[in-house]
Amino acid sequence: MYQQSVTSVRSRNDRLALASGRRPAACIRTFGCQMNAHDSEKISGMAREMGYELSGDELTADLVVYNTCCVRENAENRFFGNLGKMIHRKNAGEDFVAAICGCMTQQSAAAERIKTKYPLVDIVFGTFNLAAFPDLLLETLTTGRRAAEIRTEHGEGFSDGLPTVRERAFRASVNIMYGCDNFCSYCVVPYVRGRERSRPADSILREIEGLAGSGAIEITLLGQNVNSYGGAGSGGFAALLGEICRVPGIKRIRFMTSHPKDLSDGLLDRIAGEPKICRHIHLPLQSGSTKVLARMNRGYTKEDYLALAARIRERIPGVSLTTDIIVGFPGETEEDFGDTLDAARKARFNGAYTFVYSRRAGTPAADMPGQVPKDVMNARFARLLDTLNPIFLEENRKLEGRTLEVLVEERSPRGEGFLTGRTDGNAIVHFRGEAGLIGSLADVRVTGCRTFYFTGELC
Ligand code: SAH
Ligand code: SF4
Repeated sequence: MYQQSVTSVRSRNDRLALASGRRPAACIRTFGCQMNAHDSEKISGMAREMGYELSGDELTADLVVYNTCCVRENAENRFFGNLGKMIHRKNAGEDFVAAICGCMTQQSAAAERIKTKYPLVDIVFGTFNLAAFPDLLLETLTTGRRAAEIRTEHGEGFSDGLPTVRERAFRASVNIMYGCDNFCSYCVVPYVRGRERSRPADSILREIEGLAGSGAIEITLLGQNVNSYGGAGSGGFAALLGEICRVPGIKRIRFMTSHPKDLSDGLLDRIAGEPKICRHIHLPLQSGSTKVLARMNRGYTKEDYLALAARIRERIPGVSLTTDIIVGFPGETEEDFGDTLDAARKARFNGAYTFVYSRRAGTPAADMPGQVPKDVMNARFARLLDTLNPIFLEENRKLEGRTLEVLVEERSPRGEGFLTGRTDGNAIVHFRGEAGLIGSLADVRVTGCRTFYFTGELC
């Protein structure tokens, strides 16, 4: 069905382009994490294959796709804010196709809300069936009726091999696994992305070889818990990394996310021994309180985490350690929060994503006693930033005067003649240079340090 639908939509769009002198445009808007961003690259790839020109303008596009996130309430709110624009265009009688996909559609309550409250949305599809998009689009275009398909079971490798549009040819994300089995008590991911399944190594390697062939030098491997690739304790991830290092043309390998309970010494040794693997580990702490960690179902204590952080720093000199922290988990006391601040000080993180706890219907934490009032959460959040920011700055200052290899990514927003690149440790560096360097590795001497970025000079 897939190829037939792609061909039919493409012929239709070719005819329209010929008649009007303008190719129909598709705008794909992404909410949420890197996993969603990568799904959007596949949705863009399918849209392009179906004869759409990609556009950033959701107010004029002939096809608008919203790829939703429901991990936290504010991502949901941003989506509903944008949905208003889509509905406004529909109410004004504009002729375009409105589609919604992503994690939100996999939650029955949200899917129901979209179905009943927003009848003007033409297409709804889930995370398990990205490849159904062309069939649904064709159905809507030919019948004028709504087409929806949300699956709750997944077929192996269902979205592997879909055409993909990547923002930059020199940098690419690759899924190595889908779903999650950890069921942290606050998190919707296992419900909306399904059970953990690892892609076969040969399929991953073929994809990376293809990417290298089209100019990729940096690869980011994506999974909710990459350390359990091939099964927790199998050593599968360290082995996979070793094989990827041997793909000609690939110069840098990143991965995220590492779950502390599954990070083995074997993996640390692999990272330490392979210069192509970036010296950066994103290791979500979530909370520094052992009691809260137990209620979160994280599978480690504060002491376990700190011992692991120390082991990482010892085995991989110069490593950058970044984290995710949630404040205001149900039942979090002032003492528990103090443990989080203490752990943050001891781990001396190089960077962090910080979140206020968001109550997610259907997760165990949503029904736990002791939901923390908003004002208390916000005050703790501000104190957490006050603790973390000076640590980032102090850690960054240690690199002043050093020469770091950066992947030059784009022109810098800092002004004419400036470029922006990323270090091995995933830090941002702004420096003067010719735009011709974009897409290559360059040595940059760090001349200035801020909390969230460096300034430097090309060597
Ligand atoms: N699989 C990754 C992260 C996936 S979600 C991991 O386990 O580390 C990204 C981050 O969002 C999480 O690490 C967590 O810090 C945050 N998050 C998830 N659910 C949340 C919730 N209900 N409220 C606030 N933050 C949440
Ligand atoms: Fe969510 Fe925990 Fe799975 Fe990460 S490991 S996706 S936080 S359930």
